Amino acid sequence: AKEHGGDAASFFHASMLEEALDLMQLEIDLHRALENDEFFLVYQPIVSVVDRRITGFEALLRWRHPERGVVGPDAFIALAEHSGLIHLLGRKALDEACRTLAKWRRVDQLFDGLTMHVNLSARQLSQTHIVEQVAEALRDSCLPPHLLKLEVTETMLMENPDYANAVLCRLRDIGVGVCVDDFGTGYSSLSYLQRFPIDTLKVDRSFVSRMTREPGQFKIVQAVIALAHSLGLEVVAEGVEDEEQRIMLLGLACRYAQGFLFAKPLAAEDVPAHVTG
Ligand code: C2E
Ligand code: CA
Ligand code: CA
Ligand code: CA
Repeated sequence: AKEHGGDAASFFHASMLEEALDLMQLEIDLHRALENDEFFLVYQPIVSVVDRRITGFEALLRWRHPERGVVGPDAFIALAEHSGLIHLLGRKALDEACRTLAKWRRVDQLFDGLTMHVNLSARQLSQTHIVEQVAEALRDSCLPPHLLKLEVTETMLMENPDYANAVLCRLRDIGVGVCVDDFGTGYSSLSYLQRFPIDTLKVDRSFVSRMTREPGQFKIVQAVIALAHSLGLEVVAEGVEDEEQRIMLLGLACRYAQGFLFAKPLAAEDVPAHVTG
């Protein structure tokens, strides 16, 4: 209404200003949150498609916001990237994920061979000390390097392929695995990816969720899995939510999957109860 502040144009500006202020407030909150230790990790199991046994975990960030409750990464990762805070946040996540798997391994031998996937952001990858930070996280936690898998996206690799390749080679040299996340949503081809030292592809949830209804999507997933395997890459299907998808993936010889059908992301203390012999 008129008395509440005029025409559409000024309303538009007011709402943009509000949005900008919201973002600034969020950025202030992020700094405080890091100081107050409000960030924590949850762990989503990655399982074998054949028998549903857990083969590893993906560490996912959460923020216990004092007023808003638990906030997911979609609400803060982009801003943390933009403000540069991701360097500290990402490093904390890396350290904690390594320490947590190392701790589980010390108390229960059922964790033997289980891996920990940690997401890297674009800015973390482009930062010069990333390899040293990974090496340090492994050294401090005493986690065997081959149990750590770093997840990067195609887009991150394609932005500066020569640089990315050099970093991934150094990571491979220290024994860490590299996984291409959200595969299929970027603009790279499998033949290009073969030039990077990677060992796992994660097929994006968007393909997996449409695969049972759309024959075209099924064929894409089929082709990606077959080609990945022929290049010696492992495949994890993301976002598996129902048994029909699992059966279909089984038929495509996809070995690993992750999704609500098997388990939601779990609090660290709830993980050991899910790992059974
Ligand atoms: P992502 O790496 O693709 O992680 C998978 C996301 O899919 C997670 O969302 C997970 O909870 C969700 N998910 C898993 N299974 C299912 C399913 O069956 N159905 C549906 N609908 N969703 C499923 P989350 O935890 O909200 O994370 C969102 C994104 O935030 C992640 O996507 C990742 O890109 C980013 N992220 C999370 N933690 C970190 C981190 O430590 N560092 C960085 N740089 N990014 C992170
Ligand atoms: Ca991921
Ligand atoms: Ca993903
Ligand atoms: Ca995804």
